[in-house]
Amino acid sequence: MLNQSNELNAWDRDHFFHPSTHMGTHARGESPTRIMAGGEGVTVWDNNGRKSIDAFAGLYCVNVGYGRQKIADAIATQAKNLAYYHAYVGHGTEASITLAKMIIDRAPKGMSRVYFGLSGSDANETNIKLIWYYNNVLGRPEKKKIISRWRGYHGSGVMTGSLTGLDLFHNAFDLPRAPVLHTEAPYYFRRTDRSMSEEQFSQHCADKLEEMILAEGPETIAAFIGEPILGTGGIVPPPAGYWEKIQAVLKKYDVLLVADEVVTGFGRLGTMFGSDHYGIKPDLITIAKGLTSAYAPLSGVIVADRVWQVLVQGSDKLGSLGHGWTYSAHPICVAAGVANLELIDEMDLVTNAGETGAYFRAELAKAVGGHKNVGEVRGDGMLAAVEFVADKDDRVFFDASQKIGPQVATALAASGVIGRAMPQGDILGFAPPLCLTREQADIVVSKTADAVKSVFANL
Ligand code: PMP
Repeated sequence: MLNQSNELNAWDRDHFFHPSTHMGTHARGESPTRIMAGGEGVTVWDNNGRKSIDAFAGLYCVNVGYGRQKIADAIATQAKNLAYYHAYVGHGTEASITLAKMIIDRAPKGMSRVYFGLSGSDANETNIKLIWYYNNVLGRPEKKKIISRWRGYHGSGVMTGSLTGLDLFHNAFDLPRAPVLHTEAPYYFRRTDRSMSEEQFSQHCADKLEEMILAEGPETIAAFIGEPILGTGGIVPPPAGYWEKIQAVLKKYDVLLVADEVVTGFGRLGTMFGSDHYGIKPDLITIAKGLTSAYAPLSGVIVADRVWQVLVQGSDKLGSLGHGWTYSAHPICVAAGVANLELIDEMDLVTNAGETGAYFRAELAKAVGGHKNVGEVRGDGMLAAVEFVADKDDRVFFDASQKIGPQVATALAASGVIGRAMPQGDILGFAPPLCLTREQADIVVSKTADAVKSVFANL
């Protein structure tokens, strides 16, 4: 492998088709390539030796931080002993069985089974199929529609991209596909009627959901999917009372609830699951990212026992489950998962996410909250966001073409801190590894304040 940057850069532009990248500017060499080479704790560096604090933990996934020997050793040992065996027709490995048990021990009450996949997207594909199967077993084949929310993020496959409620993931791909519907985003800061209290806005969201269910016919609505806190859609915590009111509507019309905990699972909000944090009682939970801290690709669907009891009857009626991936419960990935969950406990990262996360958000609000172009500083646990506005009092947003969010993220990156310009709106997001210290949080905050100042000074 050649390591000369020039040559690698040329191969990159000519041969590497990057996900979520502007194809033209990248291929023409107009946008920068960064070739990542190493990481330790919250720090990453590239092949020019340039270091950054990764305040987005990759794509909010490296929860334990980089360079953890314990996980690397577990992966190496598993690769030597048995790199692969499938999980079809009752096969497993010690690691796959152990990990399933560890997940159920940590999951909200009432969950009993874990189905393993490789990505958050494929886990949500599994959810959709299980929901349809469930209603077929129950003899109600018309109950198949799934309600998601505008600004929700659930993947970028054909069906999961449809569940996702962001235009970028729909436009030019002819999505969303039926039978997916989108309801109001629980985005209090962007509510149209600004006289509403949080509770009133939550009631408004629940009313909108109920209207949709009644308009479509409750006998056609199978499930509702939501992230406990909106992630990619802007890092937006639910307004007061939201989940309570939404769950009351779902219960009334016998609609399953999928909690997509790909970001919030395994500690990010200061509790093992976001469902525990917000009082959500899901039927299905999507997990990925923090399950292995991204040391190996692994996702899963955690199934409530009440749903499992229906699914299991399906085999007797319909035969063996016609759903599986070659790499379901891949031994190397589940071995990484076991070591990762042990490390989360050993390092007490769930507690740190709650405590240091609260400190980080409070300091961030102190440092930039008063700026005339900062409309809101928000978040929960180890998740934070700063939303920029053209006019604070009248809550006027910038035109997207001004790319304010990306400009701040770029200025911040130049100073050695990686945040993320969220894809819709001028929002700078943070999701640091859960091992972040107060000293590291201080650096992220002061560099963010500098980046905000410099961008608006030059506007
Ligand atoms: N659900 C949520 C809540 C996510 O944030 C993501 C990814 N950011 C996904 C699903 C999709 O996961 P993946 O990219 O692994 O397919």
